[in-house]
Amino acid sequence: MYTELGISDALVKLGNEIESGLQERFSEIDRTAEYNQLKVLNAMQKNRLQEAHFQPSTGYGYNDIGRETLEKIYADTFHTEAALVRPQITCGTHALTVALFSSVRPGDEILSPVGHPYDTLEEVIGIRESKGSLKEWGVSYREVPLKADGSFDYEAIRQAIHEKTKLVEIQRSKGYLSRKTFSPEEIGELIGFIKGVKPDVITLVDNCYGEFVDRNEPSDFGADMTVGSLIKNPGGGLSRTGGYIAGTKECVEQCARRLTSPGLGGEVGANLGVLPEMIQGFFLAPTVTASALKTALFSAALFERLGFETFPDSSALRHDIIQAVRLGNAEALIAFCKGIQAASPVDSFVTPEPWDMPGYDVPVIMAAGTFVSGASIELSADGPLRDPYNVYFQGGLTYFHGKFGILSAANELLRRGLVKLQ
Ligand SMILES: *Cc1c(COP(=O)(O)O)cnc(C)c1O
Repeated sequence: MYTELGISDALVKLGNEIESGLQERFSEIDRTAEYNQLKVLNAMQKNRLQEAHFQPSTGYGYNDIGRETLEKIYADTFHTEAALVRPQITCGTHALTVALFSSVRPGDEILSPVGHPYDTLEEVIGIRESKGSLKEWGVSYREVPLKADGSFDYEAIRQAIHEKTKLVEIQRSKGYLSRKTFSPEEIGELIGFIKGVKPDVITLVDNCYGEFVDRNEPSDFGADMTVGSLIKNPGGGLSRTGGYIAGTKECVEQCARRLTSPGLGGEVGANLGVLPEMIQGFFLAPTVTASALKTALFSAALFERLGFETFPDSSALRHDIIQAVRLGNAEALIAFCKGIQAASPVDSFVTPEPWDMPGYDVPVIMAAGTFVSGASIELSADGPLRDPYNVYFQGGLTYFHGKFGILSAANELLRRGLVKLQ
């Protein structure tokens, strides 16, 4: 089939050889998925999930027992007191915005002890001037860069915490930076330190791309709020929209008041019939995340063999599903993305081209042939056309599609003479 689909025989052979060498790592990934599958299943059984919970609600959405059950399932999986899981949370940035705005008041300060936050948060916080930002509301922001070796700068963090510090935001995933991604344990250590300096500070973890990669989540190590997007890992590829916030009862109730209204909180919010996909997606999320992880690992190992630098490299332990490859020139970056697009189940006939995007100073190329628009738990890749021409990619609902996508990307580079099989 690979040959029939246009992948060169030599590359298929190399791919299979690489894959054989990864079997032990794949089993580790499977064991984590097995554990997390039981964790989710147990939460569903404990909350007596039943057919009545899949019904649509409309209007105000009062007494929506399906919505309430889904939120209890999230809370039990994340081992938190409560959770807010809603289609009305439009994306990860929105979930983080709700969490941030809900806990601070004018005069308060937010601290990021792990360096610069994700791009879209710049405007939320007001690092980049923006209408409606936290800065406009009189909330200040401070960040402590990581040390040169990528570790937490505890002394500088201690000095940055003062009486105005209300909330600490910790981003687990490196996102599109070149730092490392933190494990839930490392985040727990940081939270412990921060609470030691100032016990009443609220700790918020941006968990995007991290859910179900490890057996524990940041909420297992004391995070007051753990936040993410449902078109990434926890939606399992089925959720078509939504976000979640899992945390203490007090924090989650504050978030509900900010998302809807004071006085209404989490009591309103019609589900309009999306609960089946949100619930079933969460059920599938551990194994879908495992597929994305195997895809990332396979691609790192293959592209290393082809002579490229990868981040993280194929020997590193992983705590998110993002993979980067340093392709070195524009032609290779474009070829890679074309290969991913051509291997997609949706829009495989479309050719991605670099384009000017809002917020970028250079053209960006993106490949995403996804069932859910923009879903990055599905195989997708992008990169800005600037040195060192890194491509960032993630996802893969099934490992077999992920593997084919990566082979297709490599094949495109080979076909154009941009790389040689050694
Ligand atoms: C994706 C992501 C976000 C924002 O999520 P959107 O759904 O794109 O708004 C925030 N932080 C990190 C680390 C992410 O990966």
